[in-house]
This record gives sequence, structure tokens and C-alpha cells, in this order.
Amino acid sequence: MDATDVKVLRGRVLTFVEEPQSLSDTASYRYIEDGAVVIGDGKIIMVGEFNPKAAAHHQVIDHRPHLVMPGFIDPHIHFPQMQVIGSYAGALLEWLNTYTFVEEQKFGDLAHASRIASAFFNELVRHGTTTAAAYCSVHPTSVDAFFEEAAKRNMLMVGGKVMMDRNAPPGLCDTAQSGYDDTKSLIAKWHGKGRAQYAITPRFAITSSPDQLEAAEALAREFPELHIQTHVSENMAEIAFAKELYPNLPDYVGIYERYHLLGAKTLLGHCIHLSHRETEVIEKSGSVAVFCPTSNLFIGSGLFDYDRQHAHGVRIAVATDVGGGTSYSMLRTLDEAYKVMQLRGQRLNPLRSFYHMTLGNARAMSLDANVGSIGAGKDADLVVLNAGATPQMALRMETVDSLSNELFLLQTCGDDRAVVETYVAGNAMKSALERGKVSGVSR
Ligand SMILES: [Zn+2]
Repeated sequence: MDATDVKVLRGRVLTFVEEPQSLSDTASYRYIEDGAVVIGDGKIIMVGEFNPKAAAHHQVIDHRPHLVMPGFIDPHIHFPQMQVIGSYAGALLEWLNTYTFVEEQKFGDLAHASRIASAFFNELVRHGTTTAAAYCSVHPTSVDAFFEEAAKRNMLMVGGKVMMDRNAPPGLCDTAQSGYDDTKSLIAKWHGKGRAQYAITPRFAITSSPDQLEAAEALAREFPELHIQTHVSENMAEIAFAKELYPNLPDYVGIYERYHLLGAKTLLGHCIHLSHRETEVIEKSGSVAVFCPTSNLFIGSGLFDYDRQHAHGVRIAVATDVGGGTSYSMLRTLDEAYKVMQLRGQRLNPLRSFYHMTLGNARAMSLDANVGSIGAGKDADLVVLNAGATPQMALRMETVDSLSNELFLLQTCGDDRAVVETYVAGNAMKSALERGKVSGVSR
């Protein structure tokens, strides 16, 4: 790398180092009013006070007065549901059968899958999200499209084909054997290629037979370093159906426990209506409860009990769950998380919200060695935020007197309009997208 490849981003730099315990917990983050993030070769070289002398020989991109933060991380999203979002359904099972399962059948067609995958990553970039854990469809072609498009943009993405062999249309069903075989060959094809990470993805207990969960268990044993992602305890009718399908097991979480699918790299979508035993099992296993507020409100699933899970020591992540979720924006998502917690008489302080969007979700996904914070050696995945992005926000900013109030305004009123720029592995992607360059590779 020569000096011309090095870029200096100047701005108000904010990065978390620990989970904020209160609004006055200044030890939980590092904030530099006139900061510099020096990047080169896709990595952060150093971060500190802006120094005009040191920056003199490099390209300086001046983002003042905006905030420079680690790129947002979305630990639960469905890429084949771009054309499902905003479907007028009642509860979960009706939503799945009427809209989602119809749309997902189109992803056996590579051209369709590639078109949607491209739009999907553009949407993430527009919203400042640089890493996600995504469910693809049952078809291996959907995984190929997903990782090919992610690779074009050099994005760190976790994803996998859903394994589902029952209670879905024939066009969306694999078998225990083919689900195992397809997953195994997709792992060989994609896992560790560039920034791609494969996730073993049994969709949920309702759409997987005991034989299929055994196949998922075998994969988890063969590839213990992989993520596992699934859904649990979202909605009362779903819970009752799962128990009916696995009558000899103690509860819904007990199904994944029985097939040894719980562990530190397991992401459990929803976790809304958990018994005491289920909470204990999740905590002991080190699995992550993924809170998806916009989805939980939209599908009417219920109010995630953040304080209860947190008090039990359960690891918590916060995610969009598009297309049950209604926004790609992590700002909108944490705004709804705040409201869900208000309805439970709980408080989510804005420092903790922004911790969740960045370092918290990176830790929940065991990716914090590379992403989720700004420090030397980390990947240069960054977002630049403007809390005065709309006339209304700019007016409100006139009365904002602290960093935490600025963050709260960003979360409450912000969306993609508040995202000035998104850097992926050091490349300015959002502005490139707006100039009409698809992959946006520029140095
Ligand atoms: Zn989901």
C-alpha cells in the first residue's frame, strides 16, 4: 500500500468499548470531537485527534460536523422478502402462507435472485448497514446470488439457505437429505471466501421434521465454527403448533436443545414468550436472543421482555427482520425497540441503542474482532450520520445540548436520510450508489 491509498476521514468520531450501563456511563464509549479515522487497504490504520500535519500527504474527506461511527449490523433479516415487506396480513402463520411462501418460490430462478440480492445490498448500504445475518430461500441459487452480490461490494455477510421439509408449499421444501447435502456443498463453495460466512439455517421447528433437525445437528457437529440461525417463540399459535409437532419435548426451546443447535454462535429470532426454563436454557447455552421490534409490532407477535432477558444474563441482539419487519433502518428499528420497552415500563437509553446497532450486535454475532468498533486493525466499515438531515431534525438539533440527546434524536426521527455516507472495507458506497455505480468501488 502506498501513501496515496490512505484516506483520512475527519469528523466527530464515536465508538463503543463496552455496554453502556446508564446515560452517564462515559467509560462505555470513546468520542473525539475533531477526530480522524485513517483507513487503507480496507482496514482502519489508526484513530485519534485530527492532525493537519499528519494528514497533509493523504486524501482527507471532511465529514464535519457529522458523526463517524462503525457501520450498523443487522443480525436477522430475510433477503427474499424484499417484495413481501408491507403485506397486509394478520398474524405470523397467515403472513407466511399468504405472502412469504408465495414470494420465496421465485428464488429458484437465479436471474430473479440476483436482481433482488443486488437491490438488497443497495438498500442495506443506503441505510448504513454494513453487515447482516440473512436467511436466503430454500434454493441453493438464492445463496449463490446472495454471496455473489455481497462479494461484488466486499461486504461481510452471514447467510444460509433455509432448511425446510414440511408445512410449506412443495416448491419450498427440501428433504432432510437434500437439505443436508445442499447446505454442505454451499458451505464448501462460500464459507470463508472473501468476507462470506455461511450460517446453518433450519428455518424453524414447524417447517423442519425431526429428521431434518437431526441433519442440521450433524452439520453443526461437522462445522462447529459456523453460525446457526433460526426462529423461536414468536407467536402463540406458532408455539402451540411447534409443541404439537414435538409432543415429547418440554417446550419450544427444548426442540433446538434436543438437537444440540444451541450455542454461542446460535442466533434465535424473536424469543418473545419464553418460560423460565427456556430463558435458563438459552442463557446457559450462550445463544443470542434476537429482538426484532418492527416485526413484532407489525405482525402483532408480542412485546420482547428486554429487562427480563438481560437480568438473566441472556445475550441480546436487535434486528430488523425484514420483511416481517417494516424498515431496513437500524435507527427506525431501535426507535421501535424503545417504544416496545416503554409499553413494558422499561427504558432503553440512547447510548445502549447505538451500542446495540454497532458493537453489541457485533459481539452477539461473534464478529467483534473485525467489525462493530473503530480501532486500529478493524475492518473499515463505517457510517456517517447527520442528526439534522431533515428540516424538522435540523430545527430540533438547535435545542439539542448533549451527545446522548443527539443520538436519541437520530434514533427517534432518523432513517436513511440521516445516513450521509456508508463505507464498506474503506470504500464510499452510498455516494457511489447515488452516482449510479452499482458496486461503488472507489478509493
Ligand atoms: Zn425472521
